[in-house]
Amino acid sequence: MIPAIGIAAHDAAGPLSPWSFERRDVGTHDVQIAVQYCGICHSDLHTVRGEWGPISYPQVPGHEVVGRVTAVGGSVSGFKVGDLVGVGCMVDSCRVCDSCKEGVEQYCDNGMTGTYGGTEKETGRPTQGGYSTAIVVNQDFVLRVPENLDPAGVAPLLCAGITTWSPLRHWKVGPGSRVGIVGLGGLGHMGVKLAVAMGAHVTVFTTSESKVEDAKRLGAHAVIISKDPKQMKAARNTLDLILDTVSAPHDIEAEMALLRLDGVLCLLGGSPQPHPSPAPFTFILKRRSLAGSLIGGIRETQEMLDFCGQHGITSDIELITAGDVNTAYERMLKSDVKYRFVIDIKTLNA
Ligand code: NAP
Ligand code: ZN
Ligand code: ZN
Repeated sequence: MIPAIGIAAHDAAGPLSPWSFERRDVGTHDVQIAVQYCGICHSDLHTVRGEWGPISYPQVPGHEVVGRVTAVGGSVSGFKVGDLVGVGCMVDSCRVCDSCKEGVEQYCDNGMTGTYGGTEKETGRPTQGGYSTAIVVNQDFVLRVPENLDPAGVAPLLCAGITTWSPLRHWKVGPGSRVGIVGLGGLGHMGVKLAVAMGAHVTVFTTSESKVEDAKRLGAHAVIISKDPKQMKAARNTLDLILDTVSAPHDIEAEMALLRLDGVLCLLGGSPQPHPSPAPFTFILKRRSLAGSLIGGIRETQEMLDFCGQHGITSDIELITAGDVNTAYERMLKSDVKYRFVIDIKTLNA
């Protein structure tokens, strides 16, 4: 077994704190990684606080992981010691169902294994995430990180990046597309950067007046304060695709009305409570669709990382120490993050 230190939740209500545990030994197909940086996703908070259902404790969250390879198993061909690599939200899947064969392992019919909160096939133990000094992952779920990018800024690409990339690609966003991004947090700011790089016209919808200038700096062509009914009304019937990244229940009827003919509202935010349902005619009158999307497959995650390498795209981050995680969670709940907290894991070793 390989000793590791993690930042773990010990119950749903208390603070996270350091916890010593063991990683499985490196198997034939495994890659061992010394974690350098791990992003803090709002899903980490939903999960450890039990908002998405009961979990087992201690639980180390974290699925935006970047580090260097320290050992590889005998059958590993794609990675060697010293490589800069990433791990996202999944560490395994069944490999045989239709979704796995199509390369969309996140939709595995037999259930993919989450980087944390899942069950490790090799040991039967709960998986533990990336707020930790080391991780051991099957080679098929390890990503190559472009060496030209700042590794701390790359970490959030492993969830916030791919979660916005996947629907932008699925709905074929490109020059001429009119895209709306609702909520300018971790996911939202990556959605803006990626949609702009794909050539789309991008409008940000935010509840925070303090983020208007930032949204423009990130490349948005227009910014609307979503609490202002006048601004919302003026934007009706204009958008092809909206990515809704809001983490709490809110009025999606007003968002549906922003879509033009055949437009799609894609829910990404995992509000623990349902949104009030839009009225039938909101859909009927313009053949609008309401959809959802879950992270992204391994192949498309690699495509996204390579695209970011070519275009010099990383997340805007606030680098924090291991001791700052609980404060970061409280600030995230107040929408006070520009635009992703990333833990410097070497401060956990100290
Ligand atoms: P985040 O950084 O906290 O950003 C969420 C943003 O939503 C906030 O910055 C805020 O933006 C807006 N917001 C928050 N509360 C709101 C409210 N009550 N009404 C309206 N707007 C509100 O969170 P994140 O890490 O980007 O994650 C966003 C959500 O996506 C979470 O629920 C997370 O679990 C989920 N998620 C889903 C997937 C997936 O695969 N679908 C993957 C990762 C995360 P403004 O200040 O601009 O209004
Ligand atoms: Zn996430
Ligand atoms: Zn499968």
